[in-house]
Amino acid sequence: MANQPMLLITIDGPAGAGKTTVSKMLARTLGYRYLDTGALYRAVAFGVRAAGVRPDDDRGLGDVCNTLRLSIEGDRLVLNGVDITHRIRSPEISMLASAVSARPVVRQALLSIQREMARTGGLVAEGRDMGTVVFPEADLKFFLDATTRQRAFRRFAQYEKGNGQTLEQIEQDIRRRDQNDSSRDIAPLRPADDAIKIDSTSMTPRQVVGSMMACVGPLRE
Ligand code: C5P
Repeated sequence: MANQPMLLITIDGPAGAGKTTVSKMLARTLGYRYLDTGALYRAVAFGVRAAGVRPDDDRGLGDVCNTLRLSIEGDRLVLNGVDITHRIRSPEISMLASAVSARPVVRQALLSIQREMARTGGLVAEGRDMGTVVFPEADLKFFLDATTRQRAFRRFAQYEKGNGQTLEQIEQDIRRRDQNDSSRDIAPLRPADDAIKIDSTSMTPRQVVGSMMACVGPLRE
């Protein structure tokens, strides 16, 4: 609608909390763009694996980041000319993304890419440190969480179902990633002080978006 402010909205939270589904729905409802920053870390992990670099080799990681040509074309993620949209969704890439994302050289390289993508307003950005580090000035910040079991269920029912992992293995991976992501020194997973926390354990995506829209409404008046 004309003259409505174009907001920057962040949604952080652990794996499987429903960030992607909800962020896409919220962006669609508002007519905003959507930024999946987890996909960017996954793309780095993909490049790191392809280059045969170890996740603790900062020099190698720096080289990979410097040659990264990443673009988002609609729903597709393209790395150095190759569509990697579906290839970054494996359990191996999930764990590798978690490992490389703890390295300052990687976070620094992705910082400017993420901020560049948010240069024009009207954006819903999802990740782990959107509200705390990348966009501390965001208009509205959410932190979405759910029980570990529920998050594992969701992953099982989603894309990882076809990857041959049992529910227990997925739950174990999620716990490890939670531990990595929350305990790292740089940009750990945590709610921003001014984030609105939502526990989605027993909520549908539509209900979560409804409660988010109730917070967005007053900011658009
Ligand atoms: O959200 P998704 O599961 O795709 O993220 C993959 C990994 O990327 C996370 O486990 C986390 O380690 C890392 N990540 C991050 N900061 C973000 C987004 C993702 O460290 N803003």
